[in-house]
Amino acid sequence: MQKSPAAPPDAEARREVRPVICYPTDTLPAPDPDHLAVATRDLVKRAGLTVPPREGRAFRVAAGQTFRITSVEGPQVGDLNLWNAHDLTERFFSGKTRALHGTHVTTGDRLWSTLPHLRPLATIVDDTLSWYGIDAFGGGVHDVIGTRCDPYTHALLNDGDAYHHCCHSNLTRALCDGTGLPVAEAEPLVHDVLNVFMCTGFTRDTGRYFMKASPARPGDHIDFLAEIDLLCALSACPGGDCGSTHSSDDAACHPLLVEVFDSAATAAHRPPEPARYDRSHGR
Ligand SMILES: [Zn+2]
Repeated sequence: MQKSPAAPPDAEARREVRPVICYPTDTLPAPDPDHLAVATRDLVKRAGLTVPPREGRAFRVAAGQTFRITSVEGPQVGDLNLWNAHDLTERFFSGKTRALHGTHVTTGDRLWSTLPHLRPLATIVDDTLSWYGIDAFGGGVHDVIGTRCDPYTHALLNDGDAYHHCCHSNLTRALCDGTGLPVAEAEPLVHDVLNVFMCTGFTRDTGRYFMKASPARPGDHIDFLAEIDLLCALSACPGGDCGSTHSSDDAACHPLLVEVFDSAATAAHRPPEPARYDRSHGR
């Protein structure tokens, strides 16, 4: 391997160039704050399910409904996938959500869909962990930087060991159950997740991805307004609070509660249009 070259004489000057925000969001279409506020009040429960530890479950939410993910029994990370219920090729776009809103999301942030659609699939309307902010290690909660634990990476790092309850596999089985698709068709539709309740960041000195024990406690929840009709899948990660390990049965794991509500926002809701671009790409 090549050694790092010596720093040039103007190295410090180059490092001191000030950063600019890649995507200023002041021209981003803003949700109506009154509509978001209504979506958190006078909720009428329409459906509920429990995601067992180290398993995944699928559920459907209609446009304008609010859905809530709650920590019950103990701190537990949840890996969330979202699809347009009528077109599974339109799904959550973790990378662009990160580019627009930052590494971690909270109340007011939106979960964007893949190109060529690029519209909000859901908007976060309540987050009991919004107080956490960014800690001294650079960690925050509800990240869009991790991908999901998966059996391929686990095998790569562990001499071929097979583990079947990584979030990638849990989400695949949940999507099979939610759609009737066979595993081979469901797996490619599983995508990078929103890591609900997970506390992560990048180490300041080496830029390595880190996780630490989730600050979630029983009763903590995050609420989303479904912007379009959604098929959702949630995995209760085998890492539990993700404070030590994952991709095994070693960590203490807890269930996650999912509830779907109607509110006064439900009937009044108008789904957002896809982004305006003619898809000609200069041809
Ligand atoms: Zn996981």
